[in-house]
Amino acid sequence: MSSNVVWHSHPVDQQTRAAQKSQRPLVIWFTGLSASGKSTIAGVLEQILTKQGYHTYLLDGDNVRHGLCKDLGFSADDRKENIRRVGEVAKLAADAGLIVLAAFISPFRSDRRIVRDILPQNQFVEVFVDTPLEICKQRDPKGLYEKAQRGEIKQFTGIDSPYETPEAAEVYLDAESQSVAESVNQILEYLYQSDVLKAGYAPISISA
Ligand code: ADP
Repeated sequence: MSSNVVWHSHPVDQQTRAAQKSQRPLVIWFTGLSASGKSTIAGVLEQILTKQGYHTYLLDGDNVRHGLCKDLGFSADDRKENIRRVGEVAKLAADAGLIVLAAFISPFRSDRRIVRDILPQNQFVEVFVDTPLEICKQRDPKGLYEKAQRGEIKQFTGIDSPYETPEAAEVYLDAESQSVAESVNQILEYLYQSDVLKAGYAPISISA
């Protein structure tokens, strides 16, 4: 970056935008193996939050690879750049006052750490969607594990590319034994306890 590029502080800041929305902005970062349930859980959580009056934006790993990150592959360097970019986008969206839900395999601890570190304090919540590899292979909604096992996809996380489990995620979801609704409620309760959902929340019905 050129040293002639100087940060410009504008009169409307994050606090103003957040106050207008009556909420505390933050980034809820879902990490876990492919097919662990990140997008599904994040999608339902977003639905509940918007229904209950919160302002959100969902950044989905597969979707950003159709646009913002379509030039990137799955090498360690490209994965790092992928997470760096979406981390910066998440930061901008949180700066806009939104509750951002980000669903990315994000297999490397160091990359997740970078995102945590670029955000203001207490605005990054790591959610580890812990579903064992064997279960992910059975769910395989997009048939990706099957393709990876046939060698048609290279550097697939869990097959021939590593996944580094979080050591201190704020929320740990046992997404093998609990339902999507239970996982969503667990996150809602965490957000409420951490004073994010100031206006309160209603849990999702467990039969949903
Ligand atoms: P990811 O975003 O982690 O790649 P997806 O959400 O796309 O995963 O896929 C997970 C799949 O597993 C979905 O088809 C979802 O319906 C299914 N699934 C079954 N049981 C659960 C559960 N308990 N929690 C989350 N997902 C589940």
